[in-house]
Amino acid sequence: MLFMEELTILIVEDEQKIANTLKKGLTENGYQVDVAFDGLIGERMFLANQYDLIILDINLPGINGYELCRIIRNKNQQVPVIMLTALSTMNDKLEGFDAGSDDYLIKPFEFKELLVRIRALLKRTQHQQLPTGNILRINDLEMNLDTKEVKRNSHVISLTAKEFQLLEYMMRNKNRVVSRADIAVNVWDIDFDTKTNVIDVYVNYLRNKIDKQFPDKLIHTQIGMGYVLKEY
Ligand code: CA
Repeated sequence: MLFMEELTILIVEDEQKIANTLKKGLTENGYQVDVAFDGLIGERMFLANQYDLIILDINLPGINGYELCRIIRNKNQQVPVIMLTALSTMNDKLEGFDAGSDDYLIKPFEFKELLVRIRALLKRTQHQQLPTGNILRINDLEMNLDTKEVKRNSHVISLTAKEFQLLEYMMRNKNRVVSRADIAVNVWDIDFDTKTNVIDVYVNYLRNKIDKQFPDKLIHTQIGMGYVLKEY
């Protein structure tokens, strides 16, 4: 079998026996594998490397799997995340998906089952990445990250640099409510004064440019919580 490139998987799991068993099994199946035994190290490895898939335990020292999953999703919407947990209640499952994971496995699980899910998720993303390239899309709105061009229904929309950054952040977090604090940290500076209404002003600029002349609205206000760029 020919591998075009080796796919790299990050495993964040504090139970060393499980982590080592997974690493061995995945390596035997042709994947390159990195392991972190704690949430903070997992975060550092995610930020420093390019992974094709991430396997996250939920109960971890440092930061837990849910928090780490949210951090991953803030930076990268594409990378598939599978969560592992010993807990099997419905709430945990919902919280996992809410944090942005793509799939979920309850311990103990068969290695074969994990492998099937990994292959399915990788097939999906590898397939998606070919035609999309460096373009973010939501309905008829598209943003080309290489050319910095934004279009809605094929009309070119001209944005300032800040508007572009704000829209990019919202597109990467599409269908998720982002608070003003999230926007401040990710689009403005960490020490941005959230008491000013600058964020609301910029969201309105974006509304005027991408929503006003179109019947279907993408930007929605979630009163008391923030904003969401939502698919219709
Ligand atoms: Ca654990």
